[in-house]
Amino acid sequence: MPRYDYRCRSCGSTFELNRSMAEANAPATCPSGHDDTVKLLSTVAVTGGAAAPRPSGGGGGCCGGGCCG
Ligand SMILES: [Zn+2]
Repeated sequence: MPRYDYRCRSCGSTFELNRSMAEANAPATCPSGHDDTVKLLSTVAVTGGAAAPRPSGGGGGCCGGGCCG
């Protein structure tokens, strides 16, 4: 399930939610209970600035893409 980042405009905190794509634009409530939130552009594992590590081994071409879930 994709993860989306949201920011609360009431308290300024950012939080993440795992929700289906159909719910991506649905209103989200911040951990503090505010509902004045905006969805941020999704960031896919950009921590560290390096490219996302590929699963070692490979060759199978299945479990690396999350299609086995
Ligand atoms: Zn809030």
